[in-house]
Amino acid sequence: LKSPYHGGHLEVIVGPMFSGKSEELIRRLTRSVIARQNVQVFKPALDDRYHESAVASHAGRSVRAVAVRGAAEIRAHLSGEGTLLPSGSADLPDVVGIDEVQFMDPALVPLVLELADAGVRVILAGLDLDFRAEPFGFIPELLARAETVEKLTAICTVCGAPATRSQRLIGGEPARFDDPVVLVGAQESYEARCRVHHVVRP
Ligand code: ADP
Repeated sequence: LKSPYHGGHLEVIVGPMFSGKSEELIRRLTRSVIARQNVQVFKPALDDRYHESAVASHAGRSVRAVAVRGAAEIRAHLSGEGTLLPSGSADLPDVVGIDEVQFMDPALVPLVLELADAGVRVILAGLDLDFRAEPFGFIPELLARAETVEKLTAICTVCGAPATRSQRLIGGEPARFDDPVVLVGAQESYEARCRVHHVVRP
């Protein structure tokens, strides 16, 4: 006796800045939209309220998304405000995509596992390493629990090797290990770098 197809699983796309994570997320989501699957996309809100937005790649492609302040707002949006996520609900989307997952919160982990268990194809994109090349928050937990992990590379801006790290520059100089993640008023930029050319000042 055959069981009905259960598409629930977790896919994670990681890599440094400029490695094409958003492009790859958009590519996968666009295929699902073309196939008339029900697709819902989220990204972290930079301001303090949730709103209609878009996931965009550095090269300019985009898909519509809802900007949220965290996992609780994703849960609320999927279930109708104030109610709990109904397990196995027919109302859940076929596919849920979330960009910049490193800026969500640890409550994202149980939420995406719940969605995958309920039959949703969950596709996440985000940084695996912070600017110091240390594992980024709860991302390792997602990598361990995912069915598939794709690690993308960019191109090192110094030597052209595959870049696995994000170089943080403050006023053109490599950032220090203990520089705060948010620096008010500083001239800050990022470059893709390989292991050799990634510099963290002590
Ligand atoms: P991510 O989401 O990983 O930051 P995006 O999908 O937004 O990446 O952007 C990837 C695009 O960034 C590339 O297709 C290319 O156009 C551009 N890009 C800029 N700098 C680099 C670099 N050093 N190496 C590779 N791509 C780069």
